[in-house]
Amino acid sequence: MSYDNTNIFARILRGEIPNNTVYEDAHVLAFKDIRPQAKVHVLVIPKGAYVSAQDFGARASEAEIAAMARAISKITQELGIAESGYRLIANTGGHGHQEVPHYHVHILGGQPIGKMVHLP
Ligand code: AMP
Repeated sequence: MSYDNTNIFARILRGEIPNNTVYEDAHVLAFKDIRPQAKVHVLVIPKGAYVSAQDFGARASEAEIAAMARAISKITQELGIAESGYRLIANTGGHGHQEVPHYHVHILGGQPIGKMVHLP
């Protein structure tokens, strides 16, 4: 799947659409989800153009991959949910119900998040 430069997160990265940033470094941007599904709901995205977790794992540099993991630990610490716990979700492709075709990791926390999945 080729990268669609018009997706909403690409537009956020270009500064065309506002966002509520909680963290930024050379490789990563994190911002509040516009439709939060928990008290804490943050999206962590690479600044590079990657469609999905599949694409990111295949093509991203070691530095970009490391930056995502380091960012998540920093963000959860700063948001005060590192100790209480949280869930990371990376919806991927059709069966994964991915809606925005730019790789992103959801951080959900601030309250109990419930069972892992509910199959349809
Ligand atoms: P997914 O289903 O994993 O692709 O999730 C996409 C997420 O992006 C959803 O939780 C949306 O609420 C969120 N979202 C869509 N547009 C925006 C936006 N402009 N700012 C912040 N979050 C957004």
